[in-house]
Amino acid sequence: MKKVIFKIFGVIIVSVMLLQTIVMAASTSELRDEKSDNQEKINDAKDELSDVQEQKSSTQEEINNLDSQISDYQSQIDDLDSKISDLNVQIEEAQKKLEEAQTEYDENKKLAEERLVIMQESGDTSYLDFILSSDSVTDLISSYYLASELAEADTELLDGLEEERQAVETAKQELESSKAELNNSKTTKQSASAQLEVLKQEKNTEVAKLSEDEKAIQAQIDELTEANKTIDKEIREAEARIAAANKNNGGSSGGAAAGAPSGSANLNNVSSSGFIYPVPAAYANITTGLYYSSGAYHGAVDFGSGGINGQPVFAVADGTVIIAKALTTSYGNYIIIKHDNGLYTLYAHGQAGSITVKSGDRVAQGQQIMRVGSTGNSTGPHLHFEVRTSPGNYNNRVNPKDYLP
Ligand SMILES: [Zn+2]
Repeated sequence: MKKVIFKIFGVIIVSVMLLQTIVMAASTSELRDEKSDNQEKINDAKDELSDVQEQKSSTQEEINNLDSQISDYQSQIDDLDSKISDLNVQIEEAQKKLEEAQTEYDENKKLAEERLVIMQESGDTSYLDFILSSDSVTDLISSYYLASELAEADTELLDGLEEERQAVETAKQELESSKAELNNSKTTKQSASAQLEVLKQEKNTEVAKLSEDEKAIQAQIDELTEANKTIDKEIREAEARIAAANKNNGGSSGGAAAGAPSGSANLNNVSSSGFIYPVPAAYANITTGLYYSSGAYHGAVDFGSGGINGQPVFAVADGTVIIAKALTTSYGNYIIIKHDNGLYTLYAHGQAGSITVKSGDRVAQGQQIMRVGSTGNSTGPHLHFEVRTSPGNYNNRVNPKDYLP
C-alpha cells in the first residue's frame, strides 16, 4: 500500500515538475509578449505625448501673442485716458471762462440798462438840463452827442462780450466733441481687448487641459515602464527556475523554448540552415575559428568560454545519430548526427560518461546529447564542432559559422 502511494506521489511529483517547466516556459513567453505589448503602448503614448506637447506649446504661443495684443490695446487705452483727462481740464477751464464771460456780459448789460433807464427817466428834462446847464450851443451839442455815444458804446461793449462768450462756448463744444470721439475710440478698443481676453481665457483653458493630458500620458508611460521592469524581473526569475529545473531533470530542453537561459537550448535562435547553437546561449561565442591563428587548418569551430565545462551539448537540428563514441585520443567522446537536409554535424571532447544517445537514435533539435568536457586531444574544456557534407571525409568539412545563427 505504502509503495503504491509513493509511486503515485512520484508520478505526481515528476508530472508537476514537468508541468512546471512547461508552464514556466509558457509564462516567460507570455511575459515577453506582454512586455513587447507594453513597449508598443509606451511608444504610442510617447508619440501622443509629443503631439500634446506640440499643441500645448503652439497654444502657449497664441496666448503670448494675444497677451501682447491686449497689452498693446491697454497702452492705447491708457494713452486715450490721459488725453481725455487733459480734455477734461481744458473743458473745465473753458466752462470757467464761459461763466466769467457770462457774468461780465450780464454785469455790463445791467449797467447799460441802468444808464438807459436814467436817460429815459430824465427824458426831456435831461435834455433840458443839458441845455440849461450848457454854457453854449457847442456845449449843448457835445452833451447831446455824449449821451447818444454812451448808448452806442454800451451796445458795442455788449456785442463784443457776447461774441467772446460765444467763442468760448464754441471752443468748449469742440473740446467736448473731441472728448466724445476719444471716448468712442476707447470703448471700441476696450471691447476689442475684452474679446481678446475671452479668447485668451479659452486658450488658457486649452493649455490647462493639455497639461492634464500630458500628465496622464506621462503617468501611463511611467506605469508601463514600471510594469516592464517588473516583467523583466519575473522573466529573470522564471529563467532561473527553468535553468534549475533543467539541471534537476538532467537537462534536455525542449520545454525551455522561450528565451535562452543559461543551460538550455535556445530554439528561438535558428539560422537560415535550420541550425541552433550546440551550446547554451551564454557559451555560444566561438573562441577558435575554422583556422588556428598559427595558420593550421582546424576544420571546426570551438566553443571554449570560461565555465563551459559540464554545460549541455545540443543537437543543432533534428536528425539521426550515426556515431556516438568514447575515444581516449583525437575527438575523445564524440557524436556525429546526420540531418534531414543532408548535412552532418560532429561534436567532440565531451565529458567522460556524458553521452546520452547511441548510434541509430533519432534526436530532436535542442536535445541534449552529451556534456562539454576535455576528453581526447584537448587542452581544456571546450566543444569542438564541425559541419560536414559527407560523414567520413575530412575534406568535406565546411565552415560551421556559415550554418550557425
Ligand atoms: Zn577544435
